[in-house]
Amino acid sequence: MDLGLVEPGSNVVACPGTTTCQLGITSSRVVARLLNGGSNDLTVRVNGCQNNCAHSDIADIGFYGKGRRHFGQLIPTYALRLGGSGMAGGDLAFGGPEVPAVRVPAATKRITDTFEEQREEGEKFSTWSRRVGPDFFDKLLEDLVQVREFELPMLQRDHGNSAVFKVQSTGVGECAGASIDPVDKLLLDIAYERNLRDAFAAKRKFKEAAESMDNVFSLVGRALLIASGAAETTPAEDQMVAAVTAALPDDQATAEAYAERYTAFVEWAADLDELVYPKLTEETDAWLKRARMSCRTMQASRNKKK
Ligand code: SF4
Repeated sequence: MDLGLVEPGSNVVACPGTTTCQLGITSSRVVARLLNGGSNDLTVRVNGCQNNCAHSDIADIGFYGKGRRHFGQLIPTYALRLGGSGMAGGDLAFGGPEVPAVRVPAATKRITDTFEEQREEGEKFSTWSRRVGPDFFDKLLEDLVQVREFELPMLQRDHGNSAVFKVQSTGVGECAGASIDPVDKLLLDIAYERNLRDAFAAKRKFKEAAESMDNVFSLVGRALLIASGAAETTPAEDQMVAAVTAALPDDQATAEAYAERYTAFVEWAADLDELVYPKLTEETDAWLKRARMSCRTMQASRNKKK
């Protein structure tokens, strides 16, 4: 039976990732073809998001994809999981550093080479990785983890895609991800971007805070569209307000509030006035609660009809 998992090498397994899974964040399937477990044929598992359908927690070397901001820009990134065992009673993996997607093949090779050099006779990877400890991996991969501003153009691209990276998960996923409602996923993404916005603002990085706020508006628009049942595709940014207005004929108050808050945001983003920021975010967050409630109401009503 084809479960949709590919096996690029004898011991490298990837979930479909952005190739076909609508919850995918990174192109796990593409990068997996560039990986191997070295001469000891270590198990490598690669996931396109944190749902972890390829089970990186029971692999020697595991990855799950995410977006991570550096200098305000989103970089496709993989969080490392190390030292898991698929054997009965074996350990689950522990967390390692986060590596930009472009550097995952180099990180994997460095780990497998180092294991080959350092392991004691008969020593398993799960034993060795715990013997050397998490700090060892931070140090080993330090240069691959570090992102410098001039490297952004190279690191903003995911494997197999020449476009600048964006988190695009919008629909129903594959494998375990299929159990996650896409509206729930978007609401989580909104909370994440809002936290980022606050973190940037606390450091007085208002340009980056504006980017996060822009993402919030886009995510809320998509959540409203999907919850209303109207969205098969994501409209362009400048068409989102019109799409939301058309999709909510019975809830024009929410659509109007969306248009109003977005206009206020665009005006603020033009000059990033620090004095206006607290009131803007207070009103935006109050509106976010209302938008979230609208999503939940529409979601409940759609689930009832199923
Ligand atoms: S939901 Fe599962 S199959 Fe889809 S990208 Fe995430 S881990 Fe991969």
